[in-house]
Amino acid sequence: MTVDRRDVAVRAAVEQGLLTEQQPVAAFLDVAGIRSSVAALRAAFAAVTDAPVLHAFAVKAAPLVPVLALLHAEGMGAEVASPGELALARAAGLPPDRIVLDSPAKTVAELREALDLGIAVNADNWQELGRVDTLVADGAGQPVPPLGLRVNPQVGGGSIGALSTATSTSKFGVALNDAGARERVVEAYLERPWMTRLHAHSGSQGMALARMAQGIHALYELAEEINAAAGRQQIDTIDIGGGLPVNFSSDEHTPAFADYAGLLKERVPGLLDGRYGLVTEFGRSLLAKHGTVLARVEYAKSAGSRPIAVTHAGVQVATRTVYDPVSWPLRIAAYDAKGLPKAGPGVEQDVAGPACFAGDLLAERRRLPLLEAGDVIAALDTGAYYFSSHYGYNSLPRPAVHGFTSGQDGGVRFTTVREAQSVREIVAESGGAQRDALLGEERSNALAD
Ligand SMILES: *Cc1c(COP(=O)(O)O)cnc(C)c1O
Repeated sequence: MTVDRRDVAVRAAVEQGLLTEQQPVAAFLDVAGIRSSVAALRAAFAAVTDAPVLHAFAVKAAPLVPVLALLHAEGMGAEVASPGELALARAAGLPPDRIVLDSPAKTVAELREALDLGIAVNADNWQELGRVDTLVADGAGQPVPPLGLRVNPQVGGGSIGALSTATSTSKFGVALNDAGARERVVEAYLERPWMTRLHAHSGSQGMALARMAQGIHALYELAEEINAAAGRQQIDTIDIGGGLPVNFSSDEHTPAFADYAGLLKERVPGLLDGRYGLVTEFGRSLLAKHGTVLARVEYAKSAGSRPIAVTHAGVQVATRTVYDPVSWPLRIAAYDAKGLPKAGPGVEQDVAGPACFAGDLLAERRRLPLLEAGDVIAALDTGAYYFSSHYGYNSLPRPAVHGFTSGQDGGVRFTTVREAQSVREIVAESGGAQRDALLGEERSNALAD
């Protein structure tokens, strides 16, 4: 989202009463921005291959039904990794042939459901492949949907350990370079003529493009080896995962999808020569820059001569930033109570959240115009893995999410993507209907008397 668009949207959100005493924090999604990112992704791959490409959005990055419906309308599929994510994708209207199921811990019931629905599955490990064998032998999923195996090319991680999927000891997939693994993978495909896909997801925030391309190169070489051993194009589709990093330090969309697709064309030309269909699974890079959290500054105080703005946006909407601020710094923009960009000299201050622990800070010693009670702060680039990955600390409610578009007249139109969670819902989700569950019979009888 560019500064201008953001400023207009923030002003409109404040003017239209979307930040209130009852809802002092809310999230916003730029619909036109999301559309343009999908268009950029599709164009980037269309420019390097004529083969069919399914761009499956990684649902965990923004698990919101209207977002999935928008992406579907723009031609995308969905990558799901839990029964909840699958249900969201289906609620958004995605047909089974646009859905891919990955996850490191699928139960037999999940696998059976996916096969029966006709959803593509990537098995994570040998035990899971054994379960798939049993289900296929039992006649689940006739015809058998596209099935593949996830491998870990072990090309190494990026700068954020917790997100690095391609280290030598990563929990994901079959570790390709472990003793005997490669031979076993080739053998496994030869024994299963119905297995037609091969998958890796080795990128992540903090990963260099060259290393991502190296992982895809390893994946491609393996597919070639399997097909040569099979004497036919058994693997017809390669699922290259997602993991394109996002620039959290400016409004630039770097690296661009075209940069990555261009690099793949250069480093792994055979992947894109038309023999292989592709699946991609981008998440963060599609949504991050199109989301903003707005929050009111409730109080402005100071401690140890440090100014502190106490806002309503903290760990519940920015969990990674709060717990790991070095890996996940967020840009913060300052607005006044009318939603106008705040002017004034930069002053080092903390931007704190509402949760009851000292580390609940969106930004520490950030140079911004001095914030006052009633001002509004914007946490930028929060469209993926932030407000949509709510963390229920302090029973803070999930905030409302609004989509926005600008009309011909320059006015901004908001639509509700998700209602704010109510206090009543919090009580219900916290065992409200089971009040006496721990009291024991005597005690609950005593209460009843
Ligand atoms: C998380 C995940 C993705 C999406 O990753 P991004 O970094 O959001 O692009 C894709 N595929 C799999 C298997 C994942 O676990």
